[in-house]
Amino acid sequence: MGNDANNNDVNKNINIKSSCEMPFDFVLKNIQTKETNNNDIEIKQNTENKNKENKEKTKNYDKKENPVLIKDGYVTVIAGPCAIESVEQLDTIAKIVKDAGLSFLRAGAYKPRTSPYSFQGLEHKGLEILKEIGDKYGLYTTTEVTDAETVEEVAKYVDILQIGTRNMSNFALLKKVGIVANKFNKKVILKRGWAATIKEWLLAAEYITSKGEAEVILCERGIRTFEPYTRFTLDLSAVPVIKKLSKLPIIIDPSHAVGQSDLVIPMSRAAIAVGADGLIVEIHNQPEQALCDGQQALDTKQTYEMLHQVSAIASLLGKKIR
Ligand code: PEP
Ligand code: MN
Repeated sequence: MGNDANNNDVNKNINIKSSCEMPFDFVLKNIQTKETNNNDIEIKQNTENKNKENKEKTKNYDKKENPVLIKDGYVTVIAGPCAIESVEQLDTIAKIVKDAGLSFLRAGAYKPRTSPYSFQGLEHKGLEILKEIGDKYGLYTTTEVTDAETVEEVAKYVDILQIGTRNMSNFALLKKVGIVANKFNKKVILKRGWAATIKEWLLAAEYITSKGEAEVILCERGIRTFEPYTRFTLDLSAVPVIKKLSKLPIIIDPSHAVGQSDLVIPMSRAAIAVGADGLIVEIHNQPEQALCDGQQALDTKQTYEMLHQVSAIASLLGKKIR
C-alpha cells in the first residue's frame, strides 16, 4: 500500500506522458499542417499568400520550362557525376543517362567538400558546361547552390536547384533560394541535414516555401549514426514518415548515404520498395578516375543493372522508371 502511494506521487510529479505522444508539435504556416484524429499531420503547400503578380518568370533562358520532376505512377531517376570535371567527362556521362532512357542529369559545379584541400568544383565554368551538355542531350539539369550570393547565377544555368546536406540549416540560403526559385520558376531539391530531425527538415522546407511558390522535393541522403561501416546511415523510415506528415515528394540519395558503389544498388531497390518518389544517384564512366566521390559512383554496367533492378521493384508497385 505504502509503495503504491509513493509511486502514484512520483508519477504525478514527473507527469509521465503516453509513449505514443509524438514530438511533432511545431507550427507550419506555408506548408500547412492539419491534425487528424489519430495525430497524423497533413502538410500541404499553401498558395494563398503568394503574390502571383510579382512572379516574374524568365523564359529567355529556360530551354524547357518547368520540368515535371515527380509524376504519379513513375519513379524518377536523376543520375550523373558528383562533380563536373570537363566537357568530355560530362558529355560521356550525359550520353549514358540519355541512352538509359532517363531525363534528369545531376552534376556539381560548386562542391562543398569536407576538406578545403579537396577538389572544389569548376564553379562558374562548370555551370556553363552543364548548360551546354544538358541542352545537347535535352536533359533537365540539377546542381547544388552553396551560398546566397550565387543562387541567381546558378538559376540561370540549371532547371532544378539543389540544397546540400551541409546547408539545410543555412537559413539565409533557404530564403534566397525560395525567392529565386519563385522568380525563375525553378524546383528545389532539399537534402536532409545529416544531423537534422524530420521536424527540422520540414521547417527548412517551410523557409523556402514561405518565400513563394517554389516546389520543394525532399531528399533523404543518410544521417550520422554510430555506425562507421557506411558513410552515413540511410534513414528509409523517413519515407513513410514524410508521406504521413506531408504532401511533399521525397527522393532518396543512396550514393552519399552508403558511400560504396556495391551497396548503392540494394539500397536503391529498398528506397523504391518503401515508396520513394525517385532516386538521385552518382554515376561515372570511369569511377576510379573521378575527382570526387568515385568510390560510390556506379559505372555504366552498374548503372544499367541498378535501373533493371529498380524497374523490377517499381513494377511490383505499378510504377515505371523515368
Ligand atoms: C551531392 O549531391 O553532390 C552532395 C554533396 O550531396 P550531400 O549534400 O548529400 O552530401
Ligand atoms: Mn558526391
